[in-house]
Amino acid sequence: MNEFDYLIKNGIIIDGSGNDRYEANIVINGNKIISIFDNSKTSIYIKNKNYNLADLNFKNVIDATSKIVSPGFIDVHTHDDQNIFVDRSMSCKISQGVTTCIAGNCGISLAPFDFSGNVPAPIPLLGDKNAYRFPNVKSYKNEFQKQPSSINISLLTGHSMLRVQVMNGEINRGATKDEINKMKEILENALIEGSIGLSTGLAYPAANDAPIEEIIELAKVLKKYNGIFTTHMRNEGDNLVESVNETIKIGKLADVRTVISHHKCAGRSNWGKSKETLKLIKEAKKKQHLDLDCYPYTASSTMLLKHFVERADKVLVTWSDKVADLEVSDIDKLAKKFKCTIDELVEKIYPAGAIYFQMDDEDLNRIISFDGTMIGSDGLPGDKHPHPRLWGTFPRVLGKYSREMKLFSLEEAIYKMTFKSAKTFGLEKRGLIKKGYFADLVIFDPKKIIDKATYEKPLTPALGIDTVINNGQIVWQSKKPTNIYSGVFLEGKSFS
Ligand SMILES: [Zn+2]
Repeated sequence: MNEFDYLIKNGIIIDGSGNDRYEANIVINGNKIISIFDNSKTSIYIKNKNYNLADLNFKNVIDATSKIVSPGFIDVHTHDDQNIFVDRSMSCKISQGVTTCIAGNCGISLAPFDFSGNVPAPIPLLGDKNAYRFPNVKSYKNEFQKQPSSINISLLTGHSMLRVQVMNGEINRGATKDEINKMKEILENALIEGSIGLSTGLAYPAANDAPIEEIIELAKVLKKYNGIFTTHMRNEGDNLVESVNETIKIGKLADVRTVISHHKCAGRSNWGKSKETLKLIKEAKKKQHLDLDCYPYTASSTMLLKHFVERADKVLVTWSDKVADLEVSDIDKLAKKFKCTIDELVEKIYPAGAIYFQMDDEDLNRIISFDGTMIGSDGLPGDKHPHPRLWGTFPRVLGKYSREMKLFSLEEAIYKMTFKSAKTFGLEKRGLIKKGYFADLVIFDPKKIIDKATYEKPLTPALGIDTVINNGQIVWQSKKPTNIYSGVFLEGKSFS
């Protein structure tokens, strides 16, 4: 057999490791990269057999002249748990070159969840009640395997989901010993069935009253399964430094790999604190596995909650279950329209979502440039008028932060969104362009790549992405999805 699936020729390879670019051709067969060779070669080895290049046939040839070929991007911080079933093309992500999403972040995961009562914030971010149909990870995985999407998915287990179902919605206190044991059982089962770890959303009502001991006890379950602990910390504003210390302590006492989610300094009075937090993180990294991710914007987005409104310079309300035809509007204007105070408005239109302008560029630049910071969009796909990060995160890091601002090289930018992420989350044979690795690839124009989604028009695809390949199948080309659903459910496997 002299015929293989794809030849990507004359591309500039940035392989995800952080090493310098080089020119080469890539051969893909099935879902794997089977050869990488430069133009000086007249023959290549594939599976220990020598082939004359002149004798080889390829079903498809992609000319990548003057384009970058890199591993598909890994979005380490998503809330795509339900979105993979709603839009199987996953256009919001593949249009950016993303081929793998980590879901189940911020303490909320669609599985495992066996509960039919009212759910506290921020669980409604996952969707309405009909979305909560997976009592265990196995049922979630089965549904995805029956109806896969165009990206790979990996799932964390949300601490808030454990709390709400075990404590029967009584979440305004620490869990009892019995309840912690029940949560541990559900978590352990989730890990056995393919969850890659535990996430928390300690800043939200669903988990805010959980003491550190509760988290440590749960996180201890992870070690045996090489699970990862990711955390939306208790506080990202006035008590940011205390929260980083709390996270370091949890990681240390539970002896688990830990990721600080969407690291930021929220609220004007906390600007500049990243100097201190990054110093703490750098110090802790010497003794334990500690990492962080961030998104490249100075506004955040989540549910509309009073304590988040208070510290923001400006708030845009983006949706409300109570006001069906709500136009995106500034919270002050909306309060005037409803003839009430802002506090009254928040109560009146809840559950609702908002975008909060509350961070400083200097903190963001410092955090995103920090050695090994990974990229996670934190996009909210259920939002009719989402934060632009949902469609823009990855091209923005490449076009704005690397090419225009020169905060780091393109090689380093790609490392932050590929191999660093695969390594940290234990995604085997992903995140590198290497023989024998899965063919998750993106081909893009380094001169043109840039985000186009804005706060006004957040659903605009980025520019500069040519072709996106997931498990050896083209999923995005000529500025549109191909609707080929080649994604797989990824279970974590630690590298160490
Ligand atoms: Zn979060």
